[in-house]
Formats: sequence, structure tokens, C-alpha cells
Amino acid sequence: MDERLKFAPCGYVSITQKGIVTDVNQTFLDMMGYTQEDLVQKHFESMMSTANKLIFHSYFYPYINLDGHVDELFISLKDQQGQSIPFILNGRRFEIEGVEMIDCILVQMSKRIDYEQELRSAKKQIETAYWEKDEALAKLKQIHMEIEQKQAQLMEYNAILVELSVTDKLTGLKNRRYFQEKLEEQILRYAETGQPVSVLIIDIDHFKKVNDTWGHQAGDDVLKELAEILQLQSHPDDVVARLGGEEFVLILPGTDVEESKTKAEELRLAVTRSDWTITQITVSIGISTISSDDSDATLLKKADQALYASKENGRNRVTHMVDLN
Ligand code: GH3
Ligand code: MG
Ligand code: MG
Repeated sequence: MDERLKFAPCGYVSITQKGIVTDVNQTFLDMMGYTQEDLVQKHFESMMSTANKLIFHSYFYPYINLDGHVDELFISLKDQQGQSIPFILNGRRFEIEGVEMIDCILVQMSKRIDYEQELRSAKKQIETAYWEKDEALAKLKQIHMEIEQKQAQLMEYNAILVELSVTDKLTGLKNRRYFQEKLEEQILRYAETGQPVSVLIIDIDHFKKVNDTWGHQAGDDVLKELAEILQLQSHPDDVVARLGGEEFVLILPGTDVEESKTKAEELRLAVTRSDWTITQITVSIGISTISSDDSDATLLKKADQALYASKENGRNRVTHMVDLN
């Protein structure tokens, strides 16, 4: 055999029409661990499992006989240790002096199979990574949504807390704290724009008697009923608050002395004329209207002095601080 063919970079096996090996190169022997004697004059199929023999018979011989050649036949051959080695086989039939021979070129496939396996496993890893990424993204989205929901809930609770912190529990009116804040705002507003503001303090007459006669719970109900009347009678811009006990207060923005007197009188009458559930009551009212030297404290104090005058003068009446003395 030609020296170059002997060590060609692929296996070379020559067989007869019947499949008897007549020649084999060194490369193939080295690949498989055989010697010349192991293979020459032996059947090519002696290196094949039954399954591979079947393939060989179904493809190799029919193609060789029909086309004179076989291309890229995938077949496994057993090496000297009985291990199955995958090959790509190309075969060609030709005639020498009337004798038909078949030359086969065998290229080992194990490396390619390894590569394919690596590729397949890399592909699988990528698919898994993508899947995990998608899942993580979905989870992240869910967490974001939950955070947003919690934040919205928190804001709702905050709003409720703020509302509670400025609300009088018994009557549902605004409390003293809220009143104080709003009064300060109105004083600033007056300083900036000159818009007047009046404050009304409303105190139930002889309320102690209500409690003494009908009980504390009835007293509470009267306080709630009065709160409703005050709320109904007031303008949306007015602040209606409970100062404490049986004392209520109104801030009337944009209301001057005369308007405040009218408004207070309307309130007093509304209370008197109302059809009370427990018992008829009356209220005394004191009013102050802002002037340039007033603070929130002086404004409230003057309204209180006017209220005191209303009480002194017989109750169930309105007094404006400008009418004192
Ligand atoms: P005046 O006409 O001088 O205002 O007499 P008054 O009895 O209304 O005033 P006084 O200050 O003597 O009594 C107020 C009463 O209000 C005493 C207190 O028990 C009662 N009171 C204060 N807060 C509440 C409350 O939240 N519920 C009830 N039911 N009573 C209250
Ligand atoms: Mg009272
Ligand atoms: Mg009082």
C-alpha cells in the first residue's frame, strides 16, 4: 500500500463484493487497536453489531450496487476491546481486471458527537437560563405590584390617621387642634389680603341640667344633634369644630361684623326652633371679628368674653365683641 494512504488522516478499508476485507490502512488499525491479521481475509461485518449489520445490508449494498457509491453512511464498528466507535463511511465500487472491489473511507465521529452533545447541553442551559430569567421577571413584577398595593394602602391609612387626628370622636366634627391650625391660616390670610374673618363660640345653656336630668348618654346625644345642626347651617368654607365639653366654635372666612351677627342669630334660631329628640335646648353665642392687632389667641379670647356677656345677659342670645362696654 502506498505510504501516504497507509497513514492517511482517515481509515481506509478495501473489501470484496462479498464483504471480505482485502486491505486496511494503518490509521484504521490504530484507531481500532487491530492488527492486519485481525481483519484481512475476515468479514467486514465481523466488526458490527446486529443492528449495524442490518443498516449495512439495508443501505450499503443496495447503494453500492445501484449507484456504485455510498456517501456519509453513519455506522458503528466495534474496536478490539469491543467498544462501539461511530464512523461516517464513504464507499466506492470499482473493477480491477474483472474483479469488483469496494474501497471504504472511514472518518471517526466521536469528537463530532461530543461537540453535538456539548452544543445540545449548552442550548438546554440557555433555555433554562431564559426560563429562569422570565420567571424571575414575573416574580419581580408581582413584587412591584404588591409594593404598589401596599403603598396605596399605606397612603389610605395615613389619610385615615390624619383625618382621625383632626376629628372629634363624639360628634365627628373637627377638633380643637384643627380649629387652631385653620384660625392661624386665616390670620395670615387677613395679613396678606385684608380678607376679614369672624369667630363664633357657641355654648349650650345649662347643659349640666341636661346631664343631670336625662343622663350622660342623653347629654352626648344632644351634643351630636347640635353638631349636626351646626354643620347643616354652615357654609362649606366655614370651619365647624368642637372646642371641648359643650362648647363649639365656627370660623367664618370672609365674614365681617354685620354678617357674623346675622349668621350667629340664624344659628341661635335654628337651635331654638329645632325639634330636639331629648329636650329643647338653647345656646349662647360670642363673636369676634378680626382687626389688625389681633392674633389667634386674642381673637378667641374676645369671642369668649362676648360669650360670657351673652350668658350674663340671660343666655339664648348673641353678643359681638364690638358691642361690649
Ligand atoms: P352654662 O349655661 O353656664 O353654660 O351652664 P352649663 O351647665 O352648660 O355649664 P357648666 O360648665 O356648668 O357645665 C357643663 C357640663 O357639660 C358639665 C359637664 O359634665 C358636661 N359635659 C362636658 N363634656 C361632656 C360630654 O362630652 N358629654 C356630656 N354628656 N356632658 C359633658
Ligand atoms: Mg354651657
Ligand atoms: Mg361651657
